[in-house]
Amino acid sequence: MIELEHKRVKSYVLAGNATVTLQSGKTGKHFTYRIKKHKENHDLYFIYSLVGEDNTKDYRYIGCYFTDNNYLHLVSQYRSISDISCPPSIRAIKFLFKDLDNIHEQLHVFQSGRCARCGRLLTTPESIKRGFGPECELMAMEKFLEENYS
Ligand SMILES: [Zn+2]
Repeated sequence: MIELEHKRVKSYVLAGNATVTLQSGKTGKHFTYRIKKHKENHDLYFIYSLVGEDNTKDYRYIGCYFTDNNYLHLVSQYRSISDISCPPSIRAIKFLFKDLDNIHEQLHVFQSGRCARCGRLLTTPESIKRGFGPECELMAMEKFLEENYS
């Protein structure tokens, strides 16, 4: 299983160095985050949002989470604005951290994967489910067709 059962989400997200993808069951939109535990303070986690093409390094810091009081502290640009004007990636992470023990049924949480062909990090729900990145999926499919039907 690549999509996380809701009872497993908390331990995955707070494991210390997680890359996690959230998908809305309503809109299908998905967002990827990195959630890193502080080296000394184990109640403190830093949250980064994927903002570019490279899912190994294009992350921006968006806030931190304190496990001792379940408090999500966003960077100032997101702290004061209403939910409606909040970017969807921020809204999604707020939704996740609202209650890690009771994840909303419309929220799909995916652990990151690795491409079975080239080993690259996979962070979109489609690629995670397939086990291949888009290019490798095509190549693997072509190879399969060639071997079996030519
Ligand atoms: Zn690949």
